[in-house]
Amino acid sequence: MRWIALGVCVTQIPLLDLTRQYQTIAAEVERAVLDVMASGRYIGGDRVAQFERQFAQYVGTNECVSCNSGTDALYLTLKALDIGEGDEVIAPPFTFFATVETISAVGATPVFVDIDPKTFNLDTSAVDAAIGARTKAILPVHLFGRPLDMTALSDLAASRNLAIVEDCAQATGASWQGRQVGSFGRAGCFSFFPTKNLGAFGDGGAVTTDDPEFARRVRALKEHGATQRYVHEEVGVNSRLDAVQAAVLQVKLKYLDEWNEARRDVARRYGELLTPIPHIELPPETTDGVSVWNQYTIRVRPPLDRDRVRQNLQALGVSTMVYYPLPLHHQPVYRQLGYSVGAFPHAERACQEVLSLPMFPELTLEQQQEIVYRLKSAIDP
Ligand SMILES: *Cc1c(COP(=O)(O)O)cnc(C)c1O
Repeated sequence: MRWIALGVCVTQIPLLDLTRQYQTIAAEVERAVLDVMASGRYIGGDRVAQFERQFAQYVGTNECVSCNSGTDALYLTLKALDIGEGDEVIAPPFTFFATVETISAVGATPVFVDIDPKTFNLDTSAVDAAIGARTKAILPVHLFGRPLDMTALSDLAASRNLAIVEDCAQATGASWQGRQVGSFGRAGCFSFFPTKNLGAFGDGGAVTTDDPEFARRVRALKEHGATQRYVHEEVGVNSRLDAVQAAVLQVKLKYLDEWNEARRDVARRYGELLTPIPHIELPPETTDGVSVWNQYTIRVRPPLDRDRVRQNLQALGVSTMVYYPLPLHHQPVYRQLGYSVGAFPHAERACQEVLSLPMFPELTLEQQQEIVYRLKSAIDP
């Protein structure tokens, strides 16, 4: 709690408040977790199998293989596609590090393609020029919950005989032309990290696919490469969704559409409250798709100084975040790829200008009014 000049008592407005959502489902989720505890079955079992079926049905795919994280979902998928040494995978330079880290982890090389400055998603019109003899897959990200143009990308991938691996970590429940993300590519990779739209009480992830043979391979890889117990056809990893997390996710999946709808209301209200503020650019409407607003990310344009505005806002009691401050082609670990400054100007400029405001389904109108009021003060202190 702090006091500002007017003598008004203001509470800190967090970027995200997971306790509010928990309170609405506490009794139900606690019963589910206690059930698992009493069952004595903590790894695998009915809960995990049931959740996999429910999640596949939700996304609209034949198969779902759960695993320990979104990162593992991506890694297992690339492995199951036999992508490795000497191969290239096309990905955006403006995303969470894990997207591209997994390409390197299987031994392949990321090839970056710039983003569309309006949507922050991969510029699908620039992908074709980056495809070479070694390209094996395209790894688009539905960033901040906004679905990518999957029509354009699917056509391109089909004509060039490339696999699409969708990074859906921030977009559970988003859809493109009426179809859920994660159902377009060869595989959809999901994260159930607590801050994602469908978040567990710890780590979790899943791979969705229509191909039963591919699902079988992913399942083997996440169980030490075993297709039957103690018979190992290849070297895999250990990557499980715990039964307790599956139980939590089963409960939360029932409310996901409602929560995503509430996020859309929050986004709509921001759109109304924030216009027009000079040099502040809002995320555009989604056409042809439905966003689930994992983040509400504005641009703070020059002559405004994004970092200064953010500091002022923090002092006024509003938490914000910069997703992401450094483009992946400028990460120390990727220096050896040799991309220069200016290689991907849209990604680089996004890193200078983006600011994610508080966004969660339970954010109230009063809080949003307060955020916008304080943002104006942060710009013109
Ligand atoms: C969160 C995230 C991941 C990784 O998910 P984890 O479950 O944290 O491993 C991958 N890609 C993107 C875009 C993410 O936001």
